[in-house]
Amino acid sequence: MSNTLTTIAFIGLGNMGGGMAANLAKKGFIVNAFDLMPEHLEKARADGCNTFGSAADAVATCDAVVSMLPNGKIVESLYIDQDALLDAMPKGTLVIDCSTVAPENSRRLAQVGTEKGMRVIDAPVSGGVAAAAAGTLAFMCGGSEADVDAARPVLAAMGANIFRAGDHGAGQVAKVCNNMLLAIHMAGTAEALQLGVNNGLDPKVLSDIMLKSSGCNWSLEKYNPYPGVQENSAATRGYTGGFMVDLMLKDLGLAMQSALASQSSIPMGASARNLFSLHKKSGGEDKGGLDFSSIQQFYQ
Ligand code: NAD
Repeated sequence: MSNTLTTIAFIGLGNMGGGMAANLAKKGFIVNAFDLMPEHLEKARADGCNTFGSAADAVATCDAVVSMLPNGKIVESLYIDQDALLDAMPKGTLVIDCSTVAPENSRRLAQVGTEKGMRVIDAPVSGGVAAAAAGTLAFMCGGSEADVDAARPVLAAMGANIFRAGDHGAGQVAKVCNNMLLAIHMAGTAEALQLGVNNGLDPKVLSDIMLKSSGCNWSLEKYNPYPGVQENSAATRGYTGGFMVDLMLKDLGLAMQSALASQSSIPMGASARNLFSLHKKSGGEDKGGLDFSSIQQFYQ
């Protein structure tokens, strides 16, 4: 088992993983990268990573594995069920799964990984594509204190804030709570802005008023959903880039699952999930690929 993590296998070089792997390479780690898409491998090579023909080859000699994959089914299939990566990496490897998945997926990965002699943490992120590229993500970790501490130098190369939420799966619980709240205040912000506009207010003037009043919140401040109010917002770019409606729906589905599992009442989270689901299907075209601030269109 290596205490110094120098060689990092990176699996999943998409919107988020591409920038994260590039930052690891920039900070001097040896990065052995793999993705199913050849164009993502090409970009990783240009960013200073070594690329491999399979995930098993990428993890064969490494101190840690970082994965950034679409969902829990893929995470379990890759590490355990189909590709059995946990059998392809050196004993003692630190597995850092940054994908947003259900806490149950993370717990199974940790259990099977520990049985096979690996160290495993879940480390989902907040911050989006821009923060992944800039290396300013927030990591919400679940796992033992020792394993989270061991992961810190790797995470610090990709992010600005590292939290340990608790044991395995706790990082995912924190992520689900955060994103449920994000969905609620984004929908609430869009609703308030539309009420103002429908009653004759300029959305920029109303935003300025609420930013200095008790309605101020992160969506209004950093991610205004009304087109033209903020120069660099997804709304002003036609709701392109950013965080897709489909990914928000995935996270709200995970919030529903967590609520059922713990018999929690989440009426606001459930309403937000319904709103985003209705929005996705409204107007005859699938809006799942638009940025989630496009919920503004649902009110227009
Ligand atoms: P993405 O679809 O852009 O990237 C996923 C990558 O995984 C793709 O390049 C795909 O080819 C690759 N992949 C899929 N199956 C694979 C396999 N078996 N082996 C190797 N590679 C495989 O998605 P993304 O936006 O980068 O999101 C990744 C994760 O990060 C998701 O869990 C998402 O919920 C989470 N997340 C995304 C954002 C965001 O703003 N996009 C923000 C926070 C968290």
